[in-house]
Amino acid sequence: MNFDSLKQQKSRRTPFYYYDMALLNDTLDRLESAAKRYHYHVHYAMKANCNEDILKTIFKRPFGADCVSGNEVEKALSMGVAPNQIVLAGVGKSDWEIEQAIDAGIFCLNVESLHELQVIGLIAEKMGRPVKVALRLNPNVDANTHKHITTGLKENKFGIAHNDLGLALELLDTLDFVSLSGLHFHIGSQIMELQPYIDLCHQVNQILDFLASKQVTLEHLNLGGGLGINYHNPDIEPIPNFKLFFETIHKHLKSDLPVHFELGRSIVGQCGALVTRVLFEKQGASKNFLIVDAGMTELMRPALYSAAHKIERLNDETSNEVMKYSVVGPVCESTDSFGDDIALPLSVRGDVLVIRSAGAYGESMANNYNLRRLNAAEYSYDQVSVKDTL
Ligand SMILES: *Cc1c(COP(=O)(O)O)cnc(C)c1O
Repeated sequence: MNFDSLKQQKSRRTPFYYYDMALLNDTLDRLESAAKRYHYHVHYAMKANCNEDILKTIFKRPFGADCVSGNEVEKALSMGVAPNQIVLAGVGKSDWEIEQAIDAGIFCLNVESLHELQVIGLIAEKMGRPVKVALRLNPNVDANTHKHITTGLKENKFGIAHNDLGLALELLDTLDFVSLSGLHFHIGSQIMELQPYIDLCHQVNQILDFLASKQVTLEHLNLGGGLGINYHNPDIEPIPNFKLFFETIHKHLKSDLPVHFELGRSIVGQCGALVTRVLFEKQGASKNFLIVDAGMTELMRPALYSAAHKIERLNDETSNEVMKYSVVGPVCESTDSFGDDIALPLSVRGDVLVIRSAGAYGESMANNYNLRRLNAAEYSYDQVSVKDTL
C-alpha cells in the first residue's frame, strides 16, 4: 500500500479512510485473470465496502454483485450492474425485498429456509412472475475462523440443513412459479487455509451425486466467499492468492456446472487504511494508552470480533524508540480499543497513525454512535514502484 500522497495530507481532519486505488486495481486485475482461467463468475459482496468510488472501480470489471439487502440490489442496479449478474442472499428477506428482486429479474435468490422458499413461492405467484432460486445449504464445514464469522456449521442460523434437502425439493415441486437454478454455500469469512474449501468441495460432490440420483438438474453452483487476507503482515501479501484458490476449487470440485463466487474481503480488505491522530498519551496502572481520534464507530471489527489490525505510525521523523501501547478510541465503551501491546515508535500528541487492512467491513460498518461522523475518504491513484511490490 502506498502512503506517499497521504504524507502530504497530514493536516487534514482525522479520522478518515484512505484507499489505495492502484492496489485495488492490481487486485482486480489478478482476480479477473485468475477467474477467467476456469470461466468462474465473481460477484462482489457489496457489504464489505459500498463506498461509491470503490463500487465504481469494481463494477467497471465483468463482475456481478452479491447483495444481502434490497437497498444493495437497488444500489447495484443504479451502478449499472446487469440484473442477471446480481444475487440476493440473507437469512431474513423482507417481502418488499423479495418483490423487488423478482421485479428486477435478478439472477437468483439464495434461499435460506423452507419457510422462506414457501413465501417466495406465494409472492411470485401473486406477482405472476417466475423466479429462480438457489438453495443455500449448510454443509457443516468448519472454516477454522473466528466463531462470530463462521457461518457453515450446523449450529449457525444460515442455510438449509443438509437433511432438509429432500423436503426442499418436494416443496419446490409444488411451487409453480419457482424453479431451482443452483446450490449456494458460504461457510464463513476470513478463511486462511484452503482445507475448509476442499472439505466443502467434497460435500458438494456428494450432494451433486444425491441430486443426480433423483434426476434433479441444476444450472449453477455458488460457493460463496470467505477468502481471508493477511492482517498481521499486509505488505507481505497485499493481494490474496486468487490463482491458488480457484485452482484448488477446480481440482476438487467434480462438476461441469458454471461456478459462482461471492468475494468481499479478499477484494477490498488490503487497499484501505483508517487514518487517525493521537490525541493524548496516558500512563495507566499497567498500560501505556494512546488515545486516538478514531474508534469503534469508524472501525468496528476489533470491538465486534476481537480483530487485530496492524497499526503503524505515518511520520517517521521523530523518535525511533519503540514502545508498547494500548491504542484506544474516544468512545465511552470498554471494547473501544484497537488492541494492547502494540509496538510503535514513541508517539506523541498529533502523530498520525494508520490502521491497516481496513478496506473490508470498515467504512461499511461505520456508524453514528455518539453522533460521531466519519470524514470524507481520501484516495490515492499513485502506482507503487516496481521495487516496492517485490
Ligand atoms: C458476507 C458474505 C460474503 C462475502 O464474504 P467475504 O468473507 O467478505 O468474502 C459472501 N456471501 C455471503 C452470502 C455473505 O453473507
